[in-house]
Amino acid sequence: MVTDVNDVLAAMDEEKQQLDENRGTIWKPVFVQLRVGAKKNGQPATVGQKAVIRALWPLNEALLMTVHTKFSNSENKYVINSVCAQEVGKPCAVCEQSKTDGDIKTQKSLMLPVHLYAMKDQFENNGDWFVLKYTDKETNQEVPVRGLRILELQNSGAIEPVFRSIRKIHSGDPDEDVKPRDIRSLDLVLECHGTQKKKSIAVEKKDPTTMHPEIRAAIPGRDVIWDMVLEARPPQVAGKVATTQTASAPLQGGNPLDVVESIPDF
Ligand SMILES: [Zn+2]
Repeated sequence: MVTDVNDVLAAMDEEKQQLDENRGTIWKPVFVQLRVGAKKNGQPATVGQKAVIRALWPLNEALLMTVHTKFSNSENKYVINSVCAQEVGKPCAVCEQSKTDGDIKTQKSLMLPVHLYAMKDQFENNGDWFVLKYTDKETNQEVPVRGLRILELQNSGAIEPVFRSIRKIHSGDPDEDVKPRDIRSLDLVLECHGTQKKKSIAVEKKDPTTMHPEIRAAIPGRDVIWDMVLEARPPQVAGKVATTQTASAPLQGGNPLDVVESIPDF
């Protein structure tokens, strides 16, 4: 029992430290997410964010999944964000719910694994870009945010032009005399501006280069990506209480490769 005022605060500090530590181990980045707009906790607002990535699979081999989302304006977050349970051969609770709830969106997502080399933030219009970093728990050093991610491509929203651009690289465009090309043969820079609710993402193609050997060696199999998505967006099976999924393969979302020296210019 803590009675002394300093001990009370010490207890709070201890809990905060535990929360921070747990957050570092439990939170695993899975998707490429470009955030713009006001940041909380006194951090400056991000007016721009960009990421440099390399696709790891051909576009037509990406995983196609039906996903359900429901955004709550009052809570300012997704209250439903899950893969349709039919994708895992189960009856889906959200499909049922969507018959009466018109706010539930059901869409197809193409899940494309990519290597994220690095991300940058821009804190004022036309201002400098800063490489986003985090502190590595083992070495206690600041390293760029990087590693295996999933780029979720859809036919609507801010990501649609990104899908269109990547589709054009993959399929070519006879009207513009663009030949089809392996999307794994070049790096892409995704640059995001605007606000979180109204953002625009532009795609810049870099010149073709050989994929870094370490990235090539770490190309994930379909099971890994499947498990990453299901863990991040657990399906809601009808008639069952939602439970946290346990991935059958080790998650690689937070497992960065040591290719810092070869971050492309962006
Ligand atoms: Zn469903």
